[in-house]
Amino acid sequence: MSSNGARPARAHASVDNLRTYLLAAARRAPERPAVIQAAAGGGTETVTYGELERRVDRIAGQLDALGLDVGDRVILESDTSADSVAALLACATVGLPFIPTSPEIPDERLLTIIGSAEPALHLQTAHGKRTGIPEQVGTARLGAEGLTVERAPAPRVRRRRAVTPVDTAYITFTSGTTGRPKGVVMSHRGVIAFLRGAEAEELATADDRVANTSPLQFDFSLFDIGFTLSHGAALVPVPRDRLGWPRRFLAFLREAGVTQVDCVPSVWRPVLRHEPELLAELGDAGLVRRIVFTGEPWPLDELRALQNLLPKTRFTNGYGATETMAASITEVPNPLPADVTRLSIGHAHAGAEMTLIGPDGTPVEGPGTVGEIYLRTPSLFSGYWGDPETTSKVLVPDPLDPRSGRLVFKSGDLASMGEDGELYLHGRADSQVQIRGNRVELGEVERRIGQFEGVAGAVAMVLPREDDDPLLHAFVLRAPEGPALDTKELIAFCRAALPAYMIPQGLHVVDSFPLTVNGKVDRAALSALAVS
Ligand code: ADP
Repeated sequence: MSSNGARPARAHASVDNLRTYLLAAARRAPERPAVIQAAAGGGTETVTYGELERRVDRIAGQLDALGLDVGDRVILESDTSADSVAALLACATVGLPFIPTSPEIPDERLLTIIGSAEPALHLQTAHGKRTGIPEQVGTARLGAEGLTVERAPAPRVRRRRAVTPVDTAYITFTSGTTGRPKGVVMSHRGVIAFLRGAEAEELATADDRVANTSPLQFDFSLFDIGFTLSHGAALVPVPRDRLGWPRRFLAFLREAGVTQVDCVPSVWRPVLRHEPELLAELGDAGLVRRIVFTGEPWPLDELRALQNLLPKTRFTNGYGATETMAASITEVPNPLPADVTRLSIGHAHAGAEMTLIGPDGTPVEGPGTVGEIYLRTPSLFSGYWGDPETTSKVLVPDPLDPRSGRLVFKSGDLASMGEDGELYLHGRADSQVQIRGNRVELGEVERRIGQFEGVAGAVAMVLPREDDDPLLHAFVLRAPEGPALDTKELIAFCRAALPAYMIPQGLHVVDSFPLTVNGKVDRAALSALAVS
């Protein structure tokens, strides 16, 4: 029997909800480790699946007692930890969309997110330093004992509608590889459809210990959490202050017995530079058996150097965008054959399809032809928060069946097909620029520069000039052990393969690339180098 207002706002156990799906392992094996994390006093501590579920229920009850209603947003400002995982599953339980944010983001950016998302509550950890949360937003702290409320959320009308699979699980505000920051709204159904497809790839077993190295706000962390818990494996959040310190990073991986590391490629740059032997020892000890990387192209010299140190490790390339969580998960041979000059992003994961569409709106045929990736998938985001116009530019009628009313994701990424239908990325559609009337693919410029000896990576971009034509700039990363770079020779090397309009006019050699909070190369910060 249900009467209006009295029915608890909880997802029905038989329908898709992130909590139900991810805690299925807890039912089967409550004594197994769910999270292995750095302990406050040194060493590691283990939170079992049973304990995690108790924490989830405690927090869900507290959130419910605050009078929050299905659909009310909760900002979760934290690194990945047992507490933050419990909090996000608690939000899912009672139908509150969570917005993961990182303690590292500047106040101004958080205020922009708050201004847009109008959350009911801001959660941070017991040690969180954030102040200045606007008055209309409730505030609370998160600990092993659940929530400590500092300022109760404003009272609201409670409708207590049911939590359904199409309700929002989370909203992630992207850092903007693909343009200005947007709030990507993902439903329970969407994220679970992805996780089910990913399960078919058999990347992990319940015995794995999966290191999470991305900030919580990067949906790759949600991938790590989802993927690890759905396999009944253990999540190992690497403390963020250890990532930049190769010795401490590797010591933690060893201490926690990590078998898989999920990361963006840049995580390994300091390790390769400073502690290659220590890394090789980890591999010899049977740890780091798999590396799943994502987010940006991996400069192949670096990847090969890493494979050299970890000959027994399997490498997996995860390609995709926040809007669909991911699109493909592809095994990379170790060692990479000498003639490979571009990594494949393979085929879409089970239950999805990547279709290449040409400028005329029809599928491109045959190996080598470049088209834009359209992803046909049930793990589709619902839309950009409060931005139907931008949403309709990327959630578009399926070009393969336009009359069906079905929508697919227009990714903005360009790719070509190999002999077996596997795909190769060619950069972003918006990185196709016009230089003196010629169409230029910036990725091609980057690839040529990257082939020069002593270059570990390159980023090309066109920067405007006042009262003059825009200029093509290239930012070149010097290989750590490589020879000094002779920029004249590098330009000559480019001239040997590229037309004149594709030769960078501004060449900037750097020892490291600035990184975004998600650990990807920060293109905006690089462009500032060119004008300073
Ligand atoms: P943000 O815009 O915040 O960086 P995303 O993580 O959604 O957010 O960025 C997705 C884009 O990153 C993709 O569209 C693609 O251009 C790039 N990308 C993702 N994975 C890979 C990969 N494995 N290899 C190369 N590029 C990738």
